[in-house]
Amino acid sequence: MHILKHVHLYDAPSAGTLHTSELIDYVGQRMGGIPVTLRGEFFGHQLSGEDDEMNEVAERLARCKVRSLEKPEVVFKPLPAEVDYERKFLRRPESKPFGILYDGVTFLRILWEWIPDEERNHDHLHIVLSNQLLGTYDANDRRYHARVAIFGMPCVISTTGVIEGPARPKAFYLLKQQFAAIGRSSDTYQLQEQFRGEFVEHNDERMTEILKGYIMQAVFYHMTGDPFCDDPNCRLYNAHWQKEMIHAQLESPYEFCRNHTNVLQQFMH
Ligand SMILES: [Zn+2]
Repeated sequence: MHILKHVHLYDAPSAGTLHTSELIDYVGQRMGGIPVTLRGEFFGHQLSGEDDEMNEVAERLARCKVRSLEKPEVVFKPLPAEVDYERKFLRRPESKPFGILYDGVTFLRILWEWIPDEERNHDHLHIVLSNQLLGTYDANDRRYHARVAIFGMPCVISTTGVIEGPARPKAFYLLKQQFAAIGRSSDTYQLQEQFRGEFVEHNDERMTEILKGYIMQAVFYHMTGDPFCDDPNCRLYNAHWQKEMIHAQLESPYEFCRNHTNVLQQFMH
């Protein structure tokens, strides 16, 4: 097991209801007081802001947009307007819309290149919070899926992924279809009311508590190579449904299963 020495948490550009200082306190406590630094938004922190650098990152971000949900790794040259879009929002990340799906693995590779050499080793865990939508291709059902977290070096956790990744109740999708069939697809108020609390929405007060679990998944990924746990009550449970995520992060009788509690106890003095 790799023992971590530093955790660096990069803030999400438009945090809304997310309390990042609570997150760094939390991970510091669980890891026995190791240094956890809170940094600004990733590109704002790591880039110098020079034009060449901004152009390169913008072009690479535009390239990692998912073009087809069914086809991974489509090679294409982005349109100038797409590069302009990325460049503009590199300078103003807080106003970047979050409708585009990016290839999560390629996105991680871009981030990795802008981390300074002295922090590119196993002593340092970089966790990048993002409001952008990231997906990975699933070879089983041959399509991209939005994810809450992409684990690698660095790890990225998406607040939009919390909302769009784990599936909502089946009844929600059925009703949504029925609304669309009778031409009321914009009339979502009734839907939202009926399912209130059953899934996470934008500006949800539960976001901070939920992200604690995903941050700990990143910590375990970094230390052991495995971010997940089979216990639906453990914060490391790999939830595929909103209901499972809300249960593991907010309603479970305990935070971590016995096995993962034991691992964490090694860090407490
Ligand atoms: Zn566990």
